[in-house]
Order: sequence, then C-alpha cells, then structure tokens
Amino acid sequence: LTIGAALDRAARDHAGRDALIVRAQNLRLTYAELKTRVDACAAGLIALGLEPGDRIGIFSPNNAEWAILQFASAKAGLILVTINPAYRISELEFVLNEVQCKALVLARRFKSSDYIAMLDQLTPEQLPHLELRVAIGNDPAPAGMIRFADIAEAATPDSRARLETLSSTLQFDDPINIQFTSGTTGAPKGATLSHNNILNNGYFVGEACKLRVGDRIGIPVPLYHCFGMVMGNLAAITHGAAMIYPAEGFDPRATLEAVAAERCTHLYGVPTMFIAELDHPDFASFDLSSLRGGIMAGTTCPIEVMRKVIERMHMNQLTICYGMTETSPVSFQSATDDTPERRVATVGRIHPHLEVKLIDTDGRIVERGERGEICTRGYSVMLGYWGQEAKTREAIDEAGWMHTGDLGVIDNDGYCTIVGRSKDIVIRGGENIYPREVEEFLFRHPKIASASVFAVPDAKYGEVPCAWIKPAAGETLTEAEILLFCDGQIAHYKIPRYIKIVDEFPMTVTGKIQKFIMRDTMIAELG
Ligand code: ATP
Ligand code: MG
Repeated sequence: LTIGAALDRAARDHAGRDALIVRAQNLRLTYAELKTRVDACAAGLIALGLEPGDRIGIFSPNNAEWAILQFASAKAGLILVTINPAYRISELEFVLNEVQCKALVLARRFKSSDYIAMLDQLTPEQLPHLELRVAIGNDPAPAGMIRFADIAEAATPDSRARLETLSSTLQFDDPINIQFTSGTTGAPKGATLSHNNILNNGYFVGEACKLRVGDRIGIPVPLYHCFGMVMGNLAAITHGAAMIYPAEGFDPRATLEAVAAERCTHLYGVPTMFIAELDHPDFASFDLSSLRGGIMAGTTCPIEVMRKVIERMHMNQLTICYGMTETSPVSFQSATDDTPERRVATVGRIHPHLEVKLIDTDGRIVERGERGEICTRGYSVMLGYWGQEAKTREAIDEAGWMHTGDLGVIDNDGYCTIVGRSKDIVIRGGENIYPREVEEFLFRHPKIASASVFAVPDAKYGEVPCAWIKPAAGETLTEAEILLFCDGQIAHYKIPRYIKIVDEFPMTVTGKIQKFIMRDTMIAELG
C-alpha cells in the first residue's frame, strides 16, 4: 500500500469522521474533505511541473498545509523533505542543496523568525536547484512566490488524469521522504524513507497504542520529525483516528486546552513536554478525563514523570517507544497493559516483523541480559542517507542490519532497556562509566532538576566524567554540595571530575540534550 492509497481507503471507510483539527487555524476537516484537498493539491503539484522523485521541502511549524502537503506529495510521487522549523539561513541553505530541492513550501514566519526574509537573503545562485517557492497563508504572495492555495488552483484536467495514472504506478518501495536526524550527536543526516518504511511503522505504532476508529490524537510534537508525521499522522490515517494539532509550536497550555476541548483520547510528547504540562499553573483547571493513552518517546523518561503522567493525566495506556529516524522510526514499544514499573524501566519489546540483536564491539552477539549495541533489521530500515553512500554503509551492514549506536540490554521476556549511546560512554582509564547511571543518581538530589553527564578528554585518564547540573526552580547549588552528595554513594571514578551549574542545557527542538555542544564548551573552557 502507498500512503496515497492508505488515505483514499480512510476517506472511503471513514468519510464523515474527523480527520484533521488545527486549533490555531480554526480548521476542521473530515476524511472526505481532507482527501478532496489533498487530491487537488497533488494534481496542482503535477501541473506546476513537479515530477515523481523530485524533492519538495516543507519549512513550517505544525499546520494544515503541512499535513495536506505530506499526503499530496506522496500521491504525486514526490519526495517530501521535512525541514526543522528552528533552522536558520545557513542550515536552510545546507538542507535545500544537500538534497537538491526543486520546490519549497514555507510558512511566512514562526516565533521570532521571518522565513520569507530568510529565503530572500539566499540568492538564486546559492540555491541552484530551487525553482518553485510557495508561501503558506492567504495574504498576497511575496515576489517570486505563489501562495499555497494557488497550487490547487493550478490543477488541470490533464494533471488530474496523470494523478490517477500515478496512483497505480507508484511503488511502495519508492522513496517518499527525507527526514533529517535530530542532530543530537552532530550534524543532522538525511534519512531517505519509503512508503513501505513509514506507512507500516505508523500502522504498527497505532496498533501498539490500541488505536480505534474515532480516537483523537493530540499531536503537540513537531511534524517535521517522524514523531509527528509518522507516529502521529500515519498512525491516525491507518486507524481512522483524528489528528489534532494544539498549536504551531509546543505550548503546554494550548496542549492541555486542546485535549480538554477536543476530547483527545491519546497524547504524544517527549518527557520535557509532559513535564511542562504537569507543571503548568492551570493544570488542574483542564478536564483531561478523555485521555486513555499516548506515547512518550525520544529520550529516556524519569520515573517520577511517568508516574505522574499515568496518574494525573489518566493515561493508563501510555506507551514508551524507542526508535530512530533511520528506522521509520519505532523499533521497540511497550504494551498498553505493561506495569508502570516495566514501562519506566524498559522501552518494551521489538515491534512485529522486525528482528533485533545486541552485539559487542567485535560484532559478536552478547548473552541475554548483557549490554550490547542494538541492531535492527526488517521493513523499517531506511533506504539510506541521501547522497551519502559511505555513511549508509557504515550504518547498515551487508546483511541489512541497522547499527543504531545505542546500547541496550534485553531481559528474558524480551523487554529492552536503553543504557545510552555507545559514543557517550565515558572511558576513564579503561573503566566504563555509563552517563545515564550517574545522571539518575544525581537526579535523586532534591535540589537538582536535571543532570547531564558526558566525557571530557583528560591527559592522565584519557577521559573523565563531567556533569552539567540544572538546579530546581528557585534553588541554588554549589559544586561542593554535589560532591558531598556523591561521596561514598557512587564509585569514586564515577564522581564527576568537573561540575558546571547552568540554567539551560543546549537542546534540539525535539527536546534532546546535545552533549556534543556541552563537551565542546568544556573543552574550550578547560583550555
Ligand atoms: P543524530 O543522529 O543526528 O545525532 P538523534 O540520534 O537524536 O540525532 P533521532 O533519530 O531523532 O536523532 O533520535 C534517535 C535517537 O534517540 C536514538 O538513537 C536514541 O539514542 C534516542 N532515543 C529514542 N528513543 C529513546 C528512548 N525511549 N529512550 C532513550 N533514548 C531514546
Ligand atoms: Mg542518531
């Protein structure tokens, strides 16, 4: 099945049901209405000269146009390049050229950024592949651009006929998406994904959440990332559920409001989003009783946060996922009826139709219960990094295994615990230190809101652990206090050699802590 065919099926089976609700645009579309808009947009894209395989970028926060373009580009056989709304000029230029985008659809502005002005600063010579520029919004189009609504208006009987023909010739193995990884460990990489990759993954994620026809998913996570566009949008269309976008960007109040007003049954988020919702001063004033489940993913979840989400947000069926952009994304997910203890301690079991093995540094499969690098294989493994064959071969071996770079342990029941990233291990004089273990210990200090541990180079030991600490609101902390807290409680070599108290950690927009930036900062500071 292609993504276009999946949408057509939803439009046939669930025509009158809510498909898309965009609170900031006051827009509500049923599945039948969504299909009408998508088909018009797809026919327009063809009429405007875009050919199957052409890359079209989307640079926008969450809105209706985003979803419509996601499905329309899939129907037209184009490759949608999802661009992080936090990108600035040089990153935008990099992405557009890296994958040779022929068209770009962009919001006019988001937060403090004027996207049109940003694009205008790039000369046609700097963007040699870009032929079509499309601005979202009803105001007259800026010079050299058309409006999003003009796409559908460009459709002709001929382009509609070609769209019909295409729907029977597109292959489910065709590339349909280039999604960039979060950039947690360095420069983002463009993972090229097929219909087969992401449509199936969306379906199985929805199955694991026990999604039913008529369910309503609150999607405050960004669409440009697979969390929104696959685990959200594609899980929804394959289950006849509604996609509900609370706001353009993440806003805890708007999210709580959307859940209450739209009677969401499911809610997604990274741990920091759930924390912001739970901590919101108006939290108690929202009726969240419609919630049943949802997904918390992207990074490890503190135990306390999990408990609160289950209890105070009624999300008994909350699941935890583990995955990566390169695997469409999800490979492990907990079950809706796993005990809360299991849901916090593990990321669940391997998804249906996927294989997993854990290997040591020599590539040998480790014993059950031992740490190893997680490798997965199956339908979900990306086609490759766009235009980067060497990097692709490093990540996916000849037998088709994706080497994730993440360390895990799998217990006798098949439940996997993520231990950290293999590159994040601190190797101090031959002794392995797992940052997560030290972080969880530090997290027990009542005055510590968050801790991040990473390696810095050391002349004597090769590497030593360094901790950045964020104090809880209104608290002050000293290095001496933290050292005293560690003394005698964890092995001496695990005690951070350097401690820095900070207000914020460098984060990706998906809420992940960028240790490589902290490491670079420390290296510069230590000289
Ligand atoms: P980059 O590859 O550019 O450095 P990234 O790996 O963070 O960035 P993503 O593909 O968005 O980019 O994220 C996948 C990674 O997120 C995984 O490899 C893993 O390290 C981490 N991750 C995902 N889910 C979980 C989870 N449930 N628990 C712990 N870590 C997780
Ligand atoms: Mg990665």
